[in-house]
Amino acid sequence: MHRYNQRPIEIGRLQRHAMDHFYSHGAQLGFTPVAEPAEKVACIGAGPASLACAAELRKNGYSVTIFESKALPGGLNTYGVAEYKLRPSDSLREVDLVRSLGVEIRFGVSAGSDITVEELERDYSATFLAVGLGPAELLRIPGEEMAHVVDALRFIAAYKTAEPIPVGRKVVVVVNLQPRKLRGVESNGMIVAASSGPDGSPVLAGFLEDVPVGARLK
Ligand SMILES: Cc1cc2nc3c(=O)[nH]c(=O)nc-3n(C[C@H](O)[C@H](O)[C@H](O)COP(=O)(O)OP(=O)(O)OC[C@H]3O[C@@H](n4cnc5c(N)ncnc54)[C@H](O)[C@@H]3O)c2cc1C
Repeated sequence: MHRYNQRPIEIGRLQRHAMDHFYSHGAQLGFTPVAEPAEKVACIGAGPASLACAAELRKNGYSVTIFESKALPGGLNTYGVAEYKLRPSDSLREVDLVRSLGVEIRFGVSAGSDITVEELERDYSATFLAVGLGPAELLRIPGEEMAHVVDALRFIAAYKTAEPIPVGRKVVVVVNLQPRKLRGVESNGMIVAASSGPDGSPVLAGFLEDVPVGARLK
C-alpha cells in the first residue's frame, strides 16, 4: 500500500482483534477430538505449522506427538516475532489450546540426533516436518563476526525470553533497504549492532557496502 501512498492494512491489529474476540467468547474450538485415536503421527517442531497440523490431525482422529528441540513451544511466534506484535504469553496461550486437544509435546528433543528417522518411522504412521527456516542468513560481509554484532532473530529471542543481550551505550540498527534474495526469498536483511570505539563513539559493525566497516558514526 505504501507504493500507492495509501494507509496500510494493519494485519497485526486484525489478528489481535480476532484472537481477543475468540478468548473473550469462551475460546471454543468448535469440535471434539476423537477419544481413541487409531494411528499415531509425529510432528517435528512446535511452531505454528506443526501446531496447526496437530490440531487438524486431532480433529480427524489421529494421535499426535510433537518433538521440539527448544525449551518452549510456539516457534518464531514465541521466540522471533517482536514483542510489541506478539507477547510470548499470547503465543503460549495458543499452544495450550492445541495441547487441550490431547496433543503431547516433548521438549528438548531434536529430530535427527535425539530421535532418529528410523525411530520415527518405526513408532509413527507418518511424520510431519515443520522445522522452520532455522537461523538467520549470514550476510557474509567483513565485520559480521565482531563482538556485539547480533542478528535480529537472536536479539529478539533473547529479549523475549527475559535474557536480553547487553548493548553498549549507543546502539546502531543496520537495515538493508535493498531487497535481497535469501534462499530464493525476497528479504530485508537486518543487523542490530552495538559497539564502541576507544573513545566511546559508536562504530559501524556491518554492512552497508559503501561505508567502510569500522567507520566512526557521527
Ligand atoms: C522477525 C519476524 C517477524 C514476524 N512477524 C510475523 C507477523 O507479524 N505475523 C505473522 O503472521 N508472521 C510473522 N512472522 C512469520 C512467522 O513467524 C513464521 O511464518 C512462522 O513462525 C513459521 O512457522 P513454522 O512452524 O514453519 O516455523 P518456526 O516458527 O520457525 O518453528 C519451527 C520449530 O521447529 C523447531 N525445530 C527446528 N529444528 C528441529 C529439530 N531438528 N527437531 C525438533 N524441533 C526442531 C524450532 O525450534 C522451532 O520451534 C515473522 C517472522 C519473523 C522472523
